[in-house]
Amino acid sequence: MHCVQSQSPGSSGAISSAGEFSPVTFEDVARVDQIVLGAGLFGLAAADFATGSGLRVAIVDPDPVPLSRASFANQARLHLGYHYPRSVGTALQALHYHKRFATEFATHINNQLTKIYAVARYESHTSAQGFEAFCNNVGIPITVADPDEWFQAGTVEQAFICAESAFDARGIRAEMLERLSDRDRLSWHLGTRLERVERDEDCFELRLTDGSVLSAPRVLNATYASINQVVDLFGFEPLPITYELCELVLGRPSDALAPYGITVMDGPFFSVMPFGSTGLHSLSAVDYTPHHRSDGPLPSFPCQAHHPSCSPQALANCGTCPHRPPTLSTEMDQLMRRFLRRELRLEPMRSVLAVRPVLRISSVDDSRPTLVYQHSKKPELISVLSGKINTIYDLESLW
Ligand SMILES: Cc1cc2nc3c(=O)[nH]c(=O)nc-3n(C[C@H](O)[C@H](O)[C@H](O)COP(=O)(O)OP(=O)(O)OC[C@H]3O[C@@H](n4cnc5c(N)ncnc54)[C@H](O)[C@@H]3O)c2cc1C
Repeated sequence: MHCVQSQSPGSSGAISSAGEFSPVTFEDVARVDQIVLGAGLFGLAAADFATGSGLRVAIVDPDPVPLSRASFANQARLHLGYHYPRSVGTALQALHYHKRFATEFATHINNQLTKIYAVARYESHTSAQGFEAFCNNVGIPITVADPDEWFQAGTVEQAFICAESAFDARGIRAEMLERLSDRDRLSWHLGTRLERVERDEDCFELRLTDGSVLSAPRVLNATYASINQVVDLFGFEPLPITYELCELVLGRPSDALAPYGITVMDGPFFSVMPFGSTGLHSLSAVDYTPHHRSDGPLPSFPCQAHHPSCSPQALANCGTCPHRPPTLSTEMDQLMRRFLRRELRLEPMRSVLAVRPVLRISSVDDSRPTLVYQHSKKPELISVLSGKINTIYDLESLW
């Protein structure tokens, strides 16, 4: 096995800006400068940075359509820091990248909402005074508001108008695919997954389930919930992760709720947010959104027993899975109703599900750092475990 760089990436496939993938047959080992595993937003951003630096890149994903897992099935909150009163580091990281992301994807950001953060009167880990001081320290705008406008009497200590917006994942996907569609240094391998890994002193050779073989001196593992499954195939130590099988309820907001995003802090409460620019809102609740937790090292959930191609070694896409757990939309809706005024209602319609990997250390302070971890130098394997969408720029320093 010889790791020869800068040859043709070989025949593989092409993707149109509409996301249509046309595979062609592989006949040989395709040698590239870099292999990106995962076509979520982080994988696509990595492919963008790497091909922009003149490198030949192959991108691999078991799903036929990019951005079909966590980068789509999330709460669409373009974080500015408010969500992390117990982790100033996470808040500052979100703030640091906010403007750049909001500018780069401006047409896919919903700025029309009014965002309310409120501190629950009981059981909150933070106080209204503490939340306000935290926002002032971090430097994010906050205005005290009358809670009676949105909340039932006595449920919250204080409400604040904040400056948070929502991103539209479908629009971002279209923009990224448009951007990458004319990169002739990029080859796509969608609908196929990593089966076996070999290495010599210079490169990794990856065999995919469709029979194709890729070789490169550097592999970026941007597979999020599957991060340790990939690390395992490479034979390295797993990262210390807990996995949560998460449900977000999507529904039609009442006219009174439609202009708002509302989050009750900081404990067993809920958050209701516009789901990008879809006209729907998503609803999550700390006690109900995670259906199951798995303490790893690989993600293991009861529903996998019913799905022949989902296992701790290879996760299928929960978004399209017929064996997903029964919805907890009623419980989430009831919780929301306990806090909000009668006219602020959500009519639940469907749910989106995804597995969220959380670094075990985050259970202490609810932090969500983005981790970029080098497992080996030559050949090089790097994993990225993202905490938030807008930290894609953490990858830029790799090129
Ligand atoms: C319930 C929930 C709510 C969230 N809310 C927010 C929020 O409001 N705001 C925010 O900024 N962030 C939020 N996040 C976090 C955010 O979604 C993630 O940080 C981000 O989407 C991760 O992007 P990614 O590209 O790393 O992962 P993904 O988008 O999941 O992409 C990983 C890709 O890897 C592929 N893959 C899997 N196995 C393999 C393999 N063996 N080989 C190759 N490819 C593979 C998958 O098919 C997938 O396409 C939330 C996450 C969850 C789960």
